[in-house]
Formats: sequence, C-alpha cells, structure tokens
Amino acid sequence: MSRPEPKPWIAEIHAYVPGKSKSASGKPLVKLSANENPLGSSPAALAALRAGHVAADYPDPDARALREAIAEVHGLDPALIVCGTGSGELLHCAVQALAGPGDEVVCSRYSFSLYPLLAQKVGATPVFAAPEEHAASVDNLLAAITGQTRVVLLDNPNNPVGTFLPPAEVARLHAALPADVLLVIDEAYAEYVDPAFQSTAFALAARHENVLVSRTFSKAYGLASERVGWVTGSAHLVDLVNRMRGAFNVSVSGQKAALAALGDQAFVAAAREHNTRERTRLADAIAALGNHGIWASPSEANFLLVHFEGVVTAAAALEALAEAGYAVRHLPSQGLPNALRITIGTAQATTDVIATLRRLCGEAG
Ligand SMILES: *Cc1c(COP(=O)(O)O)cnc(C)c1O
Repeated sequence: MSRPEPKPWIAEIHAYVPGKSKSASGKPLVKLSANENPLGSSPAALAALRAGHVAADYPDPDARALREAIAEVHGLDPALIVCGTGSGELLHCAVQALAGPGDEVVCSRYSFSLYPLLAQKVGATPVFAAPEEHAASVDNLLAAITGQTRVVLLDNPNNPVGTFLPPAEVARLHAALPADVLLVIDEAYAEYVDPAFQSTAFALAARHENVLVSRTFSKAYGLASERVGWVTGSAHLVDLVNRMRGAFNVSVSGQKAALAALGDQAFVAAAREHNTRERTRLADAIAALGNHGIWASPSEANFLLVHFEGVVTAAAALEALAEAGYAVRHLPSQGLPNALRITIGTAQATTDVIATLRRLCGEAG
C-alpha cells in the first residue's frame, strides 16, 4: 500500500507533550504543570479582549502598534522586533532558516523540551551539552560546538531547572562562538528574575549579527492563551525570521491583549512579587526536607525543579500531589526521572504542596 510518507527525520519525532491537567482517573486538577500565571491576566488586557472587534478582518500583519509599544518599554528599535504566534513560532523560524540535514543545534542537557524538536523538524541533529549541577555550563556548551553547529539555544532562566546564567557568563559564551553560529537567548521567564541582576541580552543582540533574544507574553504577562511572543536581533536576523513566519501570525485579539498588558507593568511587578514570595516559601519548606533526600535547584523562574533522592520518590510525590488536586510535571522523558517541576501557584497551592510533601515524609502536617 502506498500513502504519503514523511521525510525520515520527521518519522522519528514525536509531538510536543504539554503539561497535564487531569489525574490518571480523569479528575480535573489545578495545573502546576505548565508555568502559567496563577494571578491570571492583567485586568487591562481582559478589558481589551472584551471590547468588541471585527472577527472577519485579518490582523495587522506587521503588528506595528504592538512592536512600537514593546520597543518603548524596552528601549529597542521597533524595526528590529518581530512578533509571533508565541515565541515558539519564532524559535522555529530561526532554526528553520539556518539549519537542515547534516547540521547541529546545541542546547544544554536540561533545557526547554521544544529545542530538540525544533532541530529534528528541520532534519538537523540536536546536540546536548553536559550540564553542571543540572544548569547550563558555558564550557560544556562551547565544547559541543563543531563545524556543523548552526544554532545554540539557551533558555535563561532555564526551563525545567530554573537556573539563571549571569550576564557575564552569557557574554563569555557569545564571545567564544564562531560568528556564523546563531545564539538564541530565550528569555521566557525574564520578568521573574530579581531586578538586581537583569539580563543584558538585548545589548548583546543590538551589537552583534548572531544574537537573537526571545520574549513571551505567555508567562509573567499571563496571556498564554493568546499566543504572543517576540524576538529582537540584527536587521539580518529580523529579515530571516520575517521571511519564515506566518503572514498573519498574531491574531487581532492577541495584538490587542498584549498591547494592553504592556501598559500594565504594575501587573507584571505584582506577578514577580507574588512569585518571589511563594517560590521562597516553597523553597524554604523543601530545604527543611533535605534529610529526606528532597531538594530543589536554585530558581529565578516561576517554578522549582524538585529532586527526590530518598525514600519518597518523584512518582510517589506526583501521585500524592494529584490526590491533593494538583498536576505537576514529571520529566522522565527529559532524563529527569527523579524530579518534578512544580509551577509556583497561588498561596493556597504553595500551602497544599508543602503539606503534601511533609505528609509524604512523615512530618506533621
Ligand atoms: C513557556 C516557554 C516559552 C514560551 O513559549 P510561547 O510559545 O511564547 O508560549 C518559551 N521558552 C521557554 C523556555 C518556555 O518555558
């Protein structure tokens, strides 16, 4: 029998696996599995979404008003910004424009699960650099570069570990890369980073032709459903991404909601403050369970990667948290069978997660 068959590199890949929202028995759970914003969305963004619009018309293909507002907030040139259907679309575009069969795309062993898929979809080979205490290691990333390397993907803060590579380390990585290798700095969680050590990735992208920085409205801005992200880089890279992206890639409602959300920086600040407070509370409670072999990687993001190396296993904790009503992310397929990635949720969620972990360890509620 004959039927349409995919390219061999496509036949090998599986679809992206999103975070779960149901227990094994089908009970709906509160999601602490997809790093969504527990505060929801900015009221200004929700008001913009409610204000009527003409669904029959195509959106602005260049998202001009949104790019100008992004440029204003971040001190960038609007001509050097491209908006996309989430930052995911734009990461695809960059890899697709630069890599193909025979090429290599490098990322840290533990990084965004989408990265190897991006490489595989274009027939390139994903190459994992060894981590250092789970975090990205500049030395190991550089050691992974070969004559075939076309792109290095760095999520900073990192997902699923949560670690943040300081600006000096990112600069050291960039300085040692060949000029024809693209460095993508994926800053999906940038708004959660302690303002004391904010990234300098935009400055790097402004000065060099091989640096692309991506941001998203999906996390601290609380607009994951609207699918809006953006990148900035040199005119050359912006041109490449523009050629590859969908023509009308950001919907009318996505553009409106993101524009309104940008105008409500108080919401973003509140999201960061809530996240820091609850992440600290959860991290402190987990540190107190250290004698049970439970510990968390340091995180600047809106989640903690919690390691279970004692009697209580990650699988047991996953089940107990589901019984308590919460879905978290178990990542054996990413080489982390003994860890759970737990999104920072509401204060109630933090309290419930702490109580569940303490109970599993036989500590009083
Ligand atoms: C969540 C996340 C994104 C955001 O993807 P969108 O397509 O913008 O929703 C990007 N990179 C990383 C590392 C993420 O965890």
